[in-house]
Amino acid sequence: MGIRRRSGGFVLSINPILCDGFGHCGELAPDLVHMDEWGYPIITTVPVPLSNLAALESARYAVRGCPRQALRIDRVADPS
Ligand code: SF4
Repeated sequence: MGIRRRSGGFVLSINPILCDGFGHCGELAPDLVHMDEWGYPIITTVPVPLSNLAALESARYAVRGCPRQALRIDRVADPS
């Protein structure tokens, strides 16, 4: 069995209506999420390659750790 190639990318998306602004996601995925001056997350819209397993794992931690279920991972075809 060969190694499957991970093509495409992902973006971490937020539903700002659900977000409570306590900032757990910034602790769980500091490479993807930065907090604004009021504690609300600012998430990069630049797609991250799926081959970046550390970033993908951080995004998954953030999604699972969000108490308001305000985050999701959207897959994109081409991260370039
Ligand atoms: S963990 Fe969820 S609710 Fe909390 S700041 Fe991040 S997106 Fe908002």
